[in-house]
Amino acid sequence: MSDMDDKGISMTFLALRNRFEQDLHGHYEVAEIRQHFASLCERYFSYTPAQLVLVLKDEVPTDVVNVLLNDLSALTTGTPIQYILGCVHFLDVFLELNNAVLIPRPETEELVHWMLSSTQENETLNVVDIGTGSGCIALAFKKARPKCEVSGWDIDAAALAIAQKNADENQLPVQFKELDVLTDKLPKTKWDIIVSNPPYVPEKLKKSTQPHVLHHEPQHAIFVSDDTPLVFYERIIAYATDHLVPSGMLYFEGHTPLMESLKSLLQEAGFSDIVLRKDFRENLRFIRANK
Ligand code: GLN
Repeated sequence: MSDMDDKGISMTFLALRNRFEQDLHGHYEVAEIRQHFASLCERYFSYTPAQLVLVLKDEVPTDVVNVLLNDLSALTTGTPIQYILGCVHFLDVFLELNNAVLIPRPETEELVHWMLSSTQENETLNVVDIGTGSGCIALAFKKARPKCEVSGWDIDAAALAIAQKNADENQLPVQFKELDVLTDKLPKTKWDIIVSNPPYVPEKLKKSTQPHVLHHEPQHAIFVSDDTPLVFYERIIAYATDHLVPSGMLYFEGHTPLMESLKSLLQEAGFSDIVLRKDFRENLRFIRANK
């Protein structure tokens, strides 16, 4: 039941959830629609999914009905739920985000896990994340390895503003810096670990990219020219050759069909102990090499 009065629309949580299910039919599975609705209620009311069930027959405060209806229309136009919520969990950190930054992927959590499993809790390493975006890799690593000095670079000032906000909110002192890794002169620092999840999807794949990715996420964080798809890796490998300490580690996330070529690049550059790793979907996704 819904009706309009001076203050706005009056609706119960259940009626509103039904409206979500009706309007998003065909866009998402019912379970996913309910999950999105529950995530939004958690965001605005701090209700756990179990608490939400208990209040389903209660009225939603009218001002929030309007907010939720706006969120619903954003969902119908394909806006990812993470941008609507404006936040996401990434390992042990809670990150704010907007459409200036790529939504952190679960695969990238696996990359950080790999870095953590190869380092000790009390180590004091110098670590840089190149193309840091929301700061997810740098911040999650810093959270788990607080004694390390962690830096994050990105070409995009808007992304760095989010990354810095996330560092402040999580009280994680990470040094963020605006740099174009392809053209700028890079710092002469020596690093124990260099990590990067650079743009790696060849542009020709745009036509098969899901619309919510293509139309809502920052393209420059995802796509690379078909002619030079490994351009970021080439540049970072050249930098790492001179700026990793002896036995320093280089970690990359990358595009499955290009991982063997990336391995060859690392071999040609004289890196050793090169290990390729699959992600949880069984796609070759990560590579690690020793200097
Ligand atoms: N994994 C992302 C995607 O699927 C791409 C991330 C990247 O290019 N670094 O869209």
